[in-house]
Amino acid sequence: MGEPSGFTPSQEDTFRELWGVVTASIDVGMAPQRAPQHEQWQVEAPIEALASTAFLLNDQELHEQFDEDLFDTLNSEAMMTKGSDFVTPPASTVPVTTDYPGEYEFKIHFQKSGTAKSVTSTYSEQLNKLFCQLAKTSPVSMQLNKEPPHGAVLRATAVYKKTEHVADVVRRCPHHQNEDSAEHRSHLIRVEGSQRAQYFEDGHTKRQSVTVPYEPPQPGAEMTTILLSFMCNSSCMGGMNRRPILTILTLETPEGGVLGRRCFEVRVCACPGRDRKTEEENSTKTQNGIKQTKKKKSTLAPDVTPAKKLKTSSSADEEDKEIFTLHIRGKKRYELLKEINEGLDLADKKRKKQAKKHEVPATGKRLMQQSERSDSD
Ligand SMILES: [Zn+2]
Repeated sequence: MGEPSGFTPSQEDTFRELWGVVTASIDVGMAPQRAPQHEQWQVEAPIEALASTAFLLNDQELHEQFDEDLFDTLNSEAMMTKGSDFVTPPASTVPVTTDYPGEYEFKIHFQKSGTAKSVTSTYSEQLNKLFCQLAKTSPVSMQLNKEPPHGAVLRATAVYKKTEHVADVVRRCPHHQNEDSAEHRSHLIRVEGSQRAQYFEDGHTKRQSVTVPYEPPQPGAEMTTILLSFMCNSSCMGGMNRRPILTILTLETPEGGVLGRRCFEVRVCACPGRDRKTEEENSTKTQNGIKQTKKKKSTLAPDVTPAKKLKTSSSADEEDKEIFTLHIRGKKRYELLKEINEGLDLADKKRKKQAKKHEVPATGKRLMQQSERSDSD
């Protein structure tokens, strides 16, 4: 894709036109400055995609597999070299949102609360998303396979989910901050029921987080539970402003070394049960829709997690056969992107046809005739 050599001039024009329409109608992700235009396919790209782009911007080798520990390494290196000529690396401003069980096999669990109207906090396994009401308690249970080092803490940090918002710090809206007299009134996430909760704001990134000392499970229990509450609605103007967020829970050493990490999306809303039901239904519908299209047209959609899917194969043809899935919101966009994809498929076919005429014809006369015809095109 993106190789104009395969298009005839008229196809190229059509494609340009379409591209114009699409880029105008899509809320495109924040494309890195040095990235080529086709990077803008990263509609709703996950943080990993941004992370892998950051590697490129750092002029570092792109790892074949996404290295979950790389950011931690980068961060600790940055801490060590902290001095007069210290420059914050781009990585440190982007919190890592990949799950990392680590050697303690850090896991989290949510209560099964269902989707009843009255429910104030409910977790969707399907979406890995917590739906809760403002300032209502959401219990989150932690499980480790062995005792962590003495003084280990649990930290909760909120970060915007979408690439175009990830650089912004998640804070409460001015309205809710003004209503509150607590010292940590600007913090979205609170830990309830613990006198040992501590609220932090990073000096460099200004990101806010809350920690509690890790407590081993009570006798007879397998898990330790902490109580989180979210102090703004997702829709709060001047705050989250309808931008989806992720909560990152990290198990850390007293020095801040990450031992394990778990992430989940959070929506703070008036009707958690209803919203969870709706979003789960929509997600199922979208997935079925894409499956059906694939069967019909074997649609190729651009990837949103490039680093993980890169192949070592040197053959570009083989790479092109890989099928990726793109979740698209709205029928209109879907139709547009599908049209573009079909156009690209067509262009591919044509290019292959033209390439064939340079090969020794293996299938005899008929192929020769076809090649001759495309010659005169
Ligand atoms: Zn608010």
